[in-house]
Amino acid sequence: MAYKTIYPYNNKVLKEYDNASDADLEAALKTGHQLYLQWRQEEPQTRSVLLQKIAAAMKDKREQLAEAMTYDMGKLLVEAQGEVDLCIWIMQYYAEHGAELLQPVPLTTKLKHGYYLKQATGVLVAVEPWNFPLYQVVRVLAPNMMVGNPMILKSASICPTSVQMFADLVQSAGAPAGALTNLFISYDQVAKAIADPRVAGVCVTGSERAGASIAATAGQNLKKSTLELGGNDAFLILEDAKWSQLEQVVPQARLYNAGQVCTSSKRFIVPASMYDQFLEMLKTAFSQVKMGDPMAKTTTLAPLSSQSAKTKLQQQVATAVAGGAKVYYGNEPVDLPGQFFAPTILTDIQPDNPIFDQELFGPVASVYRVANEEEAIALANNSSYGLGGTVFSGDVEHAAQVAAKVETGMSFINDGWSSTPDMPFGGVKNSGYGRELSALGLEAFVNQHLVLKP
Ligand code: NDP
Repeated sequence: MAYKTIYPYNNKVLKEYDNASDADLEAALKTGHQLYLQWRQEEPQTRSVLLQKIAAAMKDKREQLAEAMTYDMGKLLVEAQGEVDLCIWIMQYYAEHGAELLQPVPLTTKLKHGYYLKQATGVLVAVEPWNFPLYQVVRVLAPNMMVGNPMILKSASICPTSVQMFADLVQSAGAPAGALTNLFISYDQVAKAIADPRVAGVCVTGSERAGASIAATAGQNLKKSTLELGGNDAFLILEDAKWSQLEQVVPQARLYNAGQVCTSSKRFIVPASMYDQFLEMLKTAFSQVKMGDPMAKTTTLAPLSSQSAKTKLQQQVATAVAGGAKVYYGNEPVDLPGQFFAPTILTDIQPDNPIFDQELFGPVASVYRVANEEEAIALANNSSYGLGGTVFSGDVEHAAQVAAKVETGMSFINDGWSSTPDMPFGGVKNSGYGRELSALGLEAFVNQHLVLKP
């Protein structure tokens, strides 16, 4: 049984699940396809009500959903509650705006008049990770429900309980059979589903390895894919940045969700004149962190999601140090039974260090010293990733100009990363392609169907 809830705070196995059979997968494909044919006949407005009902049901079950996420992957309960709230907001956003955003778009060409429709394309497969067990799902489910694309979901094997709870909630809120089918399936079954003619596309959030493998299957079968993969986001500090603002933003930009966010700030790029002071500021903030029970309000840093996540991060830090990096702070063992990793600051990472171009998925900050702005931009761009990033400056317009020079999908000025229903989310380079959320995410799996009139 691959799908298990193991509480990362104490390593107890809380629940195990049987894998889905091929017959379960076939049933999901069949009901999903039937629903697609039905939804094609209906206006998107008819589904707004369903999204509102799901949002209401999530409000009622806010605590249970949040607790289930904490048990699955260890995040702080308060962060899990915030995640449920964001999911409710996304559901409500598409319930309110989805139908309007899906209106036909009039076209006047040199030849004729017409319009293009935004139509559903069929069943989607969603492969989603564990760092935000519900948000990652809702990000693709809500828009596609409005479009009329039913969904088969493969969650991460370490967070089955919260995801199944959510799928049950969607059904009891009134979703028709096939709207969202959560299946505990293997990689082979995912590939089989993608190859099925009833499936129109696949959306993936996860590692580059997963993205490349799933996108290859999609390509072989001429299916559309969207990939939201890792990031090694740069946090560029310009000489005129305000310390008081930096102190408030920097620690959370790195430590939120125990640092396991694709858009966490991971590489802090600091002018030489501010370098020592920045390191001291970060060290002070990291030393004030309180690790412990994720359910407790007093805890500020949760364990990592699993033993393998911790082992991987330990190995990466060891590799960094062997390659010449220095540990400015942290990297000490934590005297707690769970998968805790002490907040750590690494410096002196040179481009030939193996971890220079790796994502460190946990509470480890890499700090770089640069001589000037050009060097900062060049360093930010010296990455195979291009997901998000921050530019911090006293001059917002100048910061925006610097941001435009960074090869990335999202830039945040004077702030860490954020996500709201109306902002597009996604990256370039090895961080993937396509966008989720906003009007762009809504159209990811839409048939932009041209109709030309005489
Ligand atoms: P994975 O990419 O392996 O997992 C993400 C999802 O993809 C899971 O549901 C996983 O299933 C599934 N998956 C992986 N490979 C395949 C495949 N070939 N076919 C079908 N499904 C597949 O992430 P990990 O959990 O291994 O984390 C490794 C690293 O990935 C992290 O350290 C981080 O760098 C990055 N990551 C980035 C995330 C982001 O938000 N962009 C989120 C999570 C991880 P299963 O759980 O069964 O393996």
